[in-house]
Amino acid sequence: MDSAPTAGQAYQATAFTNDYEFSKGGYELPTYPFVAPPELGSKIAMRHPIVIVGAGITGLTMACALARHGVAAVVLDEDNSVGVKGASSRGICYTQKSLEIFQRLGIYDRIAAKGIQWSVGRTFAGNDEVYSFDLRQQSSFQLSAQPPFINIQQFYIEGFLVQRIQELGHVHLRWGSRVTGFTQHDGFATLTVDTPQGSYQIEAEHVVDASGSHTPFHRWCSASMQSRRGDDRWCIADVRFKNLPPTERHTWIEAPFNDNRAVWQHLMADDVWRIDYQMEPDADPALVSSEAEVHKRLRRQFGADVACEIVWVGPYAYRSQCLDALHIGNVFFMGDTAKIVSPFGARGGNTGVADADNLAWKLAAVLRGLAPAALLESYNQERLEAAQQNVQVTNRTARFLRPADGMERVFRTAVISLARQHPFARQFVNTGRMAVANPYSQSANCEGSGGLSVQNVFFRWEDGSPGCVNDLVLWADGRLLLLVFGDQSAQARQRLAELTRHAPVRCVQVLGTDTRRQSLETVRDPQGHLQGACHVFGHAWALVRPDAYLAATGEAVDSALVRAVEHALALA
Ligand SMILES: Cc1cc2nc3c(=O)[nH]c(=O)nc-3n(C[C@H](O)[C@H](O)[C@H](O)COP(=O)(O)OP(=O)(O)OC[C@H]3O[C@@H](n4cnc5c(N)ncnc54)[C@H](O)[C@@H]3O)c2cc1C
Repeated sequence: MDSAPTAGQAYQATAFTNDYEFSKGGYELPTYPFVAPPELGSKIAMRHPIVIVGAGITGLTMACALARHGVAAVVLDEDNSVGVKGASSRGICYTQKSLEIFQRLGIYDRIAAKGIQWSVGRTFAGNDEVYSFDLRQQSSFQLSAQPPFINIQQFYIEGFLVQRIQELGHVHLRWGSRVTGFTQHDGFATLTVDTPQGSYQIEAEHVVDASGSHTPFHRWCSASMQSRRGDDRWCIADVRFKNLPPTERHTWIEAPFNDNRAVWQHLMADDVWRIDYQMEPDADPALVSSEAEVHKRLRRQFGADVACEIVWVGPYAYRSQCLDALHIGNVFFMGDTAKIVSPFGARGGNTGVADADNLAWKLAAVLRGLAPAALLESYNQERLEAAQQNVQVTNRTARFLRPADGMERVFRTAVISLARQHPFARQFVNTGRMAVANPYSQSANCEGSGGLSVQNVFFRWEDGSPGCVNDLVLWADGRLLLLVFGDQSAQARQRLAELTRHAPVRCVQVLGTDTRRQSLETVRDPQGHLQGACHVFGHAWALVRPDAYLAATGEAVDSALVRAVEHALALA
């Protein structure tokens, strides 16, 4: 067995090359140089429309989405690399909605080439399997151009986002730039930035706080929040085996080889396995992450002759937290500054990506003059609802995994014992409800069946070649996408032409294979997948936003459609 590096450290033995290859000994993350900005040495603070604080997965997704809309922004990060110092990769598991977003941003192919696809999860109590799923068998996951999940180290995604931002232009990435001061004014904010070459001030009309769980903006903005810290302790061992276990997510609620505490087992890129062990509540982080202890745990799980190399060890605890408002003055909170969830269900980074996708098109629409500033309020409504749902769902999992004495423990014991024999009880086994595209049921900008995510399903262009929803969203170029299903009367076609002339909407007619094309842009939906993804039937319309969420659906092309467009863009 190879010897392990010091516990709790990111292992940096070999170069993390531009090809992002892992080689023996661990990762060395890329470094980006500090480049002196024009403000340094100047007495006048320059004003920018958007300043993003934090180049983690959330801030970089935001920056990349803005760049794709052609909108300028400045990103400030105190570090000079991707990933979080000393933490190797925190996130590993990325959901279909995030992968669909990454496809729109132009980095999905890089993620798919590097990451590991999986769909099967199995949960064990002792030696018994008490729950399993194969997401590919679930119709809701089957039809997208992206798989249910890809496992990949978080820093790879961040690195791909940096590359893509550099390709797209518009965004100024400033490394080695720590925000140390903030003042809110009427219509803009001033930030103080410390750099290796001194401090400067920068002004921003909109500030996006994506600076993670230790953000200073909560204090600066007097943000109120609901917060809870538990006593659950875990210790990650990222490991490379000589003989690979199956590419499935295995979780144990009660693992005999971990003193009947929980264990997680997942494969990531570079044949690195994440084995995550639940510890005693009062466990000493230094002790449980010592080299000897980690090897002992691995031998208990995989046998005395296990041949493996430890890539990284990270002990951690977690808290749950949710702000009461995600928009205060000029500041938008997103990612871990908006909410913090336990890692069960992969809802942290994935929902940061969704936060960014939600706000980016709205800021772009406002700055491009397609919508009024009032549209930005819907960010708070929609993503706060999502944050609260995610906190609630992950708290339930945390309580299942570390139940309080009394009723919670009795419930868990009963569920595990029933699930061994009775299928009905398996739905209560909760080792993480995997992240989903949260619905926006409270949004004033979505109507009727609006507020649901539209899966990135396939259709056919007129020449018979395949296209997917993201192609249409990109074609709409930051405007609303109106899909009208079925042939339309001459009067309806005239109304549609009128609507697209006066509002930021692009319209496509969706027909079966046998219907003749009318005087509208047309695509074919022979199997009805596009219609299903939009949750409509027969003659209908669906108004799709640039974040591939439904703003509204309806039947007749009439005043209700015009109202839906106005509401979606906060025009009325
Ligand atoms: C063990 C574990 C496993 C996880 N697994 C998953 C998973 O499988 N899937 C998933 O989706 N999520 C997962 N998560 C959660 C996920 O890692 C986080 O939710 C995610 O990193 C949050 O990203 P962020 O960009 O919001 O913040 P961060 O990643 O914390 O990035 C913040 C950035 O801001 C910068 N910064 C901070 N302060 C300043 C300042 N003052 N000035 C300038 N820059 C600053 C930092 O340098 C950093 O680059 C996991 C978390 C843990 C702990």
